[in-house]
Amino acid sequence: MTFKDKTIGILGGGQLGRMTAIAAKKLGYKTLLYCPKGDNPAEYSVNEYIDGNWNDNKKLGIFASKVDVITSEFENIPAKTLYNLSKITKVYPSSFCFSIAQYRNKEKEMAAKSGFLVSKWYRIKSLEDLIKYSKILNHDCILKTNSLGYDGKGQIKISSEVNFKKIWTEINFDDCILEEKVNFDREVSILYARSSNGTECFFPLSENNHQNGILKYTIAPAILEQELEIKLKLTVKKFAKLLNLKGLLTIELFQRNNDFIFNEIAPRPHNSFHWTIEGCKNSQFDILVKSIMGQDINDQVVCENWKMINLLGDEVENLKFFNFHKDQKIHVYGKKEVKNGRKMGHITYPI
Ligand code: AMP
Repeated sequence: MTFKDKTIGILGGGQLGRMTAIAAKKLGYKTLLYCPKGDNPAEYSVNEYIDGNWNDNKKLGIFASKVDVITSEFENIPAKTLYNLSKITKVYPSSFCFSIAQYRNKEKEMAAKSGFLVSKWYRIKSLEDLIKYSKILNHDCILKTNSLGYDGKGQIKISSEVNFKKIWTEINFDDCILEEKVNFDREVSILYARSSNGTECFFPLSENNHQNGILKYTIAPAILEQELEIKLKLTVKKFAKLLNLKGLLTIELFQRNNDFIFNEIAPRPHNSFHWTIEGCKNSQFDILVKSIMGQDINDQVVCENWKMINLLGDEVENLKFFNFHKDQKIHVYGKKEVKNGRKMGHITYPI
């Protein structure tokens, strides 16, 4: 079998899958997508597509038998599905990585074990828990579903004036966590990759700005004292080692003075590193493909500064108003349905 005969299986049909497929094609690999039928932007960038649900073992078996390695762009694919697939072919990152990333309590416990500072948090399973622990946190906290939250969904800010009963009804989830509100100076994310051949790399840090819990824009590389960067990278590598990572790992952090407080992980490409498509010799998608195919990877250096702005909801229908820079690059994901706050595309330009 030649290099070009290899096929990458992609689980999840969103923009991350689409950009992974584009990178795979550029690097000489074929792609086979598996995800449920729907508004899937990745469908148009892959060689082949199998539609199916995450628990359709028969279809998943056919999918796995047709590919050399499987990677996931969607964080909530059941870890059991990934585990079953790993009996047939290689799955990078593994089901274990996803089983940790899918639960806020598990990722926080592993973050603390790796040496990250983790803000105070409590597991909440009833209205009584909510009232009790909110008081302990001086009612300055955020209630989050322990799983299935994304882009600020599944989160409610708590303050001393709130009606707890109403909030508990509103969150409508019996496994939650209550998290101390962090007064941070800035939010950053760091991206580490480990290839299945043992080589590894870091991308320069991104600085992120969120609006209503959704990433609005990223500036990169974020400036950081060398000493802090070295310490941070060691901690990230410890986390990746605990996960036995093969593929990508993004860690989102709050920075306060010289401290990094853990927020969450994502074992997949991340929105805050879309700027690497224009900004680095190898984008995060190239590095994912190289990592799972066992190619050598190395640290990515950046000479310029970049800004990446997400196109949310109907902003994508007004592209003529977005003239930030003569060299800006507009990426439109091709989603059919425009929804309020939905990530429809992004723009990257040098600053
Ligand atoms: P998350 O989905 O947990 O990453 O939350 C989305 C965004 O909400 C974060 O990027 C922050 O801007 C904000 N946020 C979440 N948790 C906290 C917290 N404990 N303290 C302050 N801001 C937070």
